[in-house]
Amino acid sequence: MCGIFGIVGHAEASNLTYLGLHALQHRGQESAGIVASDGHTLRAHRQMGLVADIFTVPVLASLPGQAAIGHVRYSTAGGSRLENAQPLFVTYAGGQFSIAHNGNLVNARELKDALEADGAIFQSDADTEVVMHLLARSKQPTFEAKLVEALKKVEGAYSILLLTESKLIAARDPHGFRPLVLGKMKEGAFVVASETTALDLIEAELVRELEPGELLIIENGVMRTSKPFTPAPRQGRCIFEQVYFAKPDSVLFGKSVYETRKRLGMQLAREQPAPAADLVIAVPDSGVPAAIGFSQVSGIPYDVGLIRSHYVGRTFIEPQQSIRHFGVKLKLSAVRSVLKGKRVVVVDDSIVRGTTSRKIVKMLKAAGAVEVHLRISSPPTQWPCYYGIDTPSRQELIASSHTTEEIARYVTADSLGYLSLEGLGAAVDDPTRSTFCTACFSGQYLTGGFTADDKLSA
Ligand code: AMP
Repeated sequence: MCGIFGIVGHAEASNLTYLGLHALQHRGQESAGIVASDGHTLRAHRQMGLVADIFTVPVLASLPGQAAIGHVRYSTAGGSRLENAQPLFVTYAGGQFSIAHNGNLVNARELKDALEADGAIFQSDADTEVVMHLLARSKQPTFEAKLVEALKKVEGAYSILLLTESKLIAARDPHGFRPLVLGKMKEGAFVVASETTALDLIEAELVRELEPGELLIIENGVMRTSKPFTPAPRQGRCIFEQVYFAKPDSVLFGKSVYETRKRLGMQLAREQPAPAADLVIAVPDSGVPAAIGFSQVSGIPYDVGLIRSHYVGRTFIEPQQSIRHFGVKLKLSAVRSVLKGKRVVVVDDSIVRGTTSRKIVKMLKAAGAVEVHLRISSPPTQWPCYYGIDTPSRQELIASSHTTEEIARYVTADSLGYLSLEGLGAAVDDPTRSTFCTACFSGQYLTGGFTADDKLSA
């Protein structure tokens, strides 16, 4: 996953990009970067780490200009190292340009092999660099036409921003997997961001979401829009953004993320009640809205039984199993006075490997809970995502090879209940899920392009 932000037409472009990235930090904590244009020259700063640590006053002062794009990264393709930090930035025959990408290209490997066979030298192993090479090699007459030609060759998920000396360009793939919104500031500057929370922070007004397959070009204060790509057979908005990834205060695909998550919890309470419980608690922060919804429908009081430390990153990000085990304890602590002697419903948004849930159930019992009923506000995660969410291989997804009863036993819960796929659709007002990608839950991928191994394991 990644977060992207771009602005054009503002004297403080890089400062505002810094703020925008700060608001999008939940989408990636591994590296961050900003590239700014003063109309003639592009300047870049990319670094491993968190936005607030990287962009000091002198660093931001070294990025002058009226236009900038920025990126926060959480690697889904390519390793965790500086060369893969974005925005990528190059000088080619036509000048300079920079790209910030959120999503995963499913045919990147194939395209990269072909480009390398033809002499291209890659600096990163990020799939985004493929777009850069395709663009630079295009024989089309204009930058815009080169970009369109390049993007027509890629398949998969991209919400993408490009910056040239004079233009900000934004594009969203024809399925619309990843979010991207357009905003405007009072002074007239245009802003494009992964989520509306970034617009709110800088007091930009939401104009609208970019449409799937839309290309926006903003130059000299004028915005042009087109739909140059072959339309997808259907939309594929990522349902996991609503379930887990986006920030709750964002409006995503036209809906409040907070309200959607609450509705997931309400639906969960109807489908998977836990009548003989004394209280409902959340796994903070992602489980909070759903736990409140569960409490409201079930009538079981909501309380705070787990406290999250805000000084550690998301545990899932830690690359090694040993660290992840330790990480849960670093991140969450149990409130004994709330839990002691209680039959507790604990609500979380998803189970991936099951290690977090197991730790949490044990922690709740150690703090005095007499029963722990785990409720999950999404269906079992059974399939890896090839469109930009960081999921482990199919074998590592506990629900791909275990029944709900087996998972309950593994996590040591007294009961376990997941939301159904139908219930998920109902909660997002799309009962047939025909505008969403639900591949992680349903296995219904919307593109080809995986390797033979992936297909076999899928
Ligand atoms: P696990 O221990 O692997 O089952 O991880 C489950 C926890 O990870 C849940 O609390 C989720 O909120 C969280 N989670 C789910 N998907 C992701 C993701 N793609 N990246 C980071 N955290 C995730």
